[in-house]
Amino acid sequence: MIFRKLGKTDLRVSAIGLGCENLDGKPYREVEETINTALDHGVNILDVFMPGREIRENIAKALGKRRGDVVIQGHIGSTEGRQHYDISRDIPTAQHYFEEMLRIFGGYIDLGMLFFIDSEKDYKQIFETDFIAYVENLKTRGYIGHIGFSSHNAATAIKVIKTGLPEMMMFSINPAFDLFGSGGSTRDTPGPEPFTGVDPKRAELYALCRQEEIGITAMKTLGGGKLILAKHTPFAEPLTVAQCLHYALSNPAVSSVLPGCQAPGEVVEAMGYFDLEDWEKDYAERLVIPSDDFEGSCVYCNHCQPCPAGIDIAAVHKYLDIARLHLGQVPPSIRHHYSSLAHGGGECIACGTCEARCPFNVPIIDNMADAEKLLGECG
Ligand code: SF4
Ligand code: SF4
Repeated sequence: MIFRKLGKTDLRVSAIGLGCENLDGKPYREVEETINTALDHGVNILDVFMPGREIRENIAKALGKRRGDVVIQGHIGSTEGRQHYDISRDIPTAQHYFEEMLRIFGGYIDLGMLFFIDSEKDYKQIFETDFIAYVENLKTRGYIGHIGFSSHNAATAIKVIKTGLPEMMMFSINPAFDLFGSGGSTRDTPGPEPFTGVDPKRAELYALCRQEEIGITAMKTLGGGKLILAKHTPFAEPLTVAQCLHYALSNPAVSSVLPGCQAPGEVVEAMGYFDLEDWEKDYAERLVIPSDDFEGSCVYCNHCQPCPAGIDIAAVHKYLDIARLHLGQVPPSIRHHYSSLAHGGGECIACGTCEARCPFNVPIIDNMADAEKLLGECG
């Protein structure tokens, strides 16, 4: 295992950690085996955003005496709701869930994360209310070691970092999001021509992280599984798991990647990364964008904006694509992310302006309806 300094904190975290979301709902024995396998391979950072008591207690029980050897990334404002996972900025509600987490993990959470700051509204609900004072107080009183935050939106993440408060952040990083832009993209020129490098807003965010010493723990490194599947990758060929991990770890601002392994075998596969030669991890040749194969497939470029109904069409597609990969068992977090959007696919008025702008002939109107069917309240 390789260890890297995490931003402004005094922590050194394993280059590969564990996102525990996919352990939610698994029997205790499977949680225990997966966590033990990870720890035995040197993993020392776990992301625990799930609000449910059972999964938290299962993780804590599996850690046992090794709790002190592990950095827990725990989220403040992650609560339960109608769709299993929810967000709350109501202080008593957030306090209830976070204090329960504190109790379960021994009275201390290493990284107290401001949960899911994607939009201006999220930002205001945290930084322009007493919520931030509550979190700072947790740190002053020694209940959390460091303040971090999670986001999928580069523009909002930049704003959060500029408050000077966070020491690290959790951010979604993979080549598709970086090259095609996803959330906070500044691209406004139509057509496929601009796909020549990292989305400018994301590049700005990564440069700011390096400048301000904000360490990143990376999520969504496999693009919800899409990047490693021939049928779904937006590139000419699927990437391997190791190539996806290597892509994120090659970003100088990234301290750790947190793949959501759900079984010991998946942990072992991820750890195989360290045994590979450089050429086996090299992703560059796979990032070829086929000219025709994009037809009908969303690459999250935002060229279809603006939508008169206010729908973030790329974000809806991002969640729809993952839902289609998991038909019949859509991850609760994806439903939750979808329900957190200001406007869902069900609000589409079928005006068709987006389809006229989309360079890849994506059937957007049909997809909006499909997203609502799969991910909406009745899905
Ligand atoms: S629907 Fe088309 S234009 Fe809109 S984000 Fe997807 S690929 Fe880009
Ligand atoms: S067709 Fe629907 S998604 Fe597209 S711009 Fe019109 S309202 Fe928005």
